[in-house]
Amino acid sequence: MLPKKVVIIGGGPAALTAAIYLRRGGASATILEKEALGGQIADCPKVDNYPACPSISGLELADKMANQAMELGAEIELDEALSLQKEGGLFSVKGNYGTYTADAVIIANGAKHAHLGVPGEDRLSGRGVSYCAVCDGAFFKNQETVVIGDGNSALQYAILLSSLCKKVTVLTLFDRFFGEESLAKTLSSLQNVEVIHNASTTEFLGENKLEKVLYLDKVGSETKEAPCQGAFIAIGQKPDNDRFRPLVELDKGYIVTDETMATLTPGLYAAGDTRVKKIRQVVTADSDGAIAALSALSYLKNQS
Ligand SMILES: Cc1cc2nc3c(=O)[nH]c(=O)nc-3n(C[C@H](O)[C@H](O)[C@H](O)COP(=O)(O)OP(=O)(O)OC[C@H]3O[C@@H](n4cnc5c(N)ncnc54)[C@H](O)[C@@H]3O)c2cc1C
Repeated sequence: MLPKKVVIIGGGPAALTAAIYLRRGGASATILEKEALGGQIADCPKVDNYPACPSISGLELADKMANQAMELGAEIELDEALSLQKEGGLFSVKGNYGTYTADAVIIANGAKHAHLGVPGEDRLSGRGVSYCAVCDGAFFKNQETVVIGDGNSALQYAILLSSLCKKVTVLTLFDRFFGEESLAKTLSSLQNVEVIHNASTTEFLGENKLEKVLYLDKVGSETKEAPCQGAFIAIGQKPDNDRFRPLVELDKGYIVTDETMATLTPGLYAAGDTRVKKIRQVVTADSDGAIAALSALSYLKNQS
């Protein structure tokens, strides 16, 4: 009998872990990834909280997971899942380059960078405005940069950029950081970093390239400017799940699952940052991926 087919939407930690468990459980695993394997963690300069891999770069961690999944026989399709349907017990995932059928599906599409939605942001995106310091930080060597955000990503971005740039200005919306204390402490020890709290970013300015960021000083109610060549926006993530309706129930855009990662459609699971949960980290995405795969294997066994 041919192995049961499982399609995994996304290629981040949750998906790669699910693929490892599926292959070891005897099912086929096809990963649909629209950009590059590894997901968000590939943007992280240094991961300090993944067990057994202290101080590993996010990219290296992602590579290790991807290699393990591929060595076990996971198939990779570089394609975006555009829609999902279930008919007669079989799923079909429509992509840009083909339609993929499956006996079970795991949605592990994570979340994407949230945008500020202020003037100049879209126009100057790729011309100084960026959402990934790991990817684009090196373009601003010895230049001035601004980081916008107050969580772990913003802290990590600012620490990374301080080692490359002449000056890094961090704009936070409130009067403090909300990320890990150890990261905030490291940041405060860096000489070329200026932190400006209570700063609401209002506009990105520049003819063809970014020249400055305008922000409202919420204390003085005054608009000020931070001259810079690069600006990194790290204000969190946003799910992208409308395309999977009505097969899933959404809560603020995130997929609702039970503790087996089951959605409201039998045979359809969700894992990682895409689902309703409190803690979004690599280890929790891995955990979800493993549970989703084992649940899918049990579902497939009961179907045959
Ligand atoms: C800058 C940064 C630093 C971080 N640092 C840490 C850290 O130090 N430690 C830690 O534990 N966690 C960290 N995180 C969080 C961690 O990266 C995430 O919790 C984790 O990557 C979630 O994994 P995931 O597989 O659920 O989703 P993601 O990593 O978001 O992966 C989802 C993948 O799905 C793909 N995709 C999306 N939609 C589709 C579609 N329709 N079709 C096909 N493919 C699709 C995306 O391209 C992406 O590759 C950090 C995150 C960021 C952004």
